[in-house]
Amino acid sequence: MKRVTIKRDTLGDWYLSIVTDDEGLSPEPKMGKAAGFDFGLKTFLTCSDGKKYPSPQFYKKSANKVAKANRALSRKKRGSHNRERARKHYARTHRKITRQREDHHWKLALHLVRLFDVCFFEDLNLKGMKRLWGKKISDLGFGEFMQKIRWQAYKRCKRVETIGRWEPTTPICHNCGQRVMFLELKDREWYCHVCKTLHDRDVNAAINILKVGISTFGGEGIRLASASTPC
Ligand SMILES: [Zn+2]
Repeated sequence: MKRVTIKRDTLGDWYLSIVTDDEGLSPEPKMGKAAGFDFGLKTFLTCSDGKKYPSPQFYKKSANKVAKANRALSRKKRGSHNRERARKHYARTHRKITRQREDHHWKLALHLVRLFDVCFFEDLNLKGMKRLWGKKISDLGFGEFMQKIRWQAYKRCKRVETIGRWEPTTPICHNCGQRVMFLELKDREWYCHVCKTLHDRDVNAAINILKVGISTFGGEGIRLASASTPC
């Protein structure tokens, strides 16, 4: 045992965390497959094999409950027992949302590292995204998800790699490499006039992330999980 940390949260509950020398690695069998993933506002993650993982958006679902708890808290007299009770209720509502999100992230991260030996992601500009889309980005928790999937990959002897932020992945046809000049956020599908392919915007981006990932980090002996090339 290396370190023991004792914490108390705003609700007064105690937590004991223990750091040990044993890394507790539990390798998962190698699947011989790599995949690329595209984060999105509508679909949390889109995999290069065409599968979509929707976002539960826990905060949005519980927004009414949070607002109600907040209103109840603001009505209570300062220093009163009732106020303390309302404060705890408000904090508990927030804690539940955080835990739901964390649970969803852990399960999805484990699912993906079990399916693939290497997972490629884009390095996101989270600060910029938060400026643009605000609360929605915090609710999705892309950054927190990345931490969890990195940990799951490390523990299960798999790999998670991120490709450069400036690598164009969305406006390039993964089939022929043609770049489209006009693609708006609302265009969920687009047609490549050069190779006559209809693209799902997110799947195409995920396939490009996979391609850039493989060319950057290598992937000998690994099949690419791509929607267009059956593996
Ligand atoms: Zn094309």
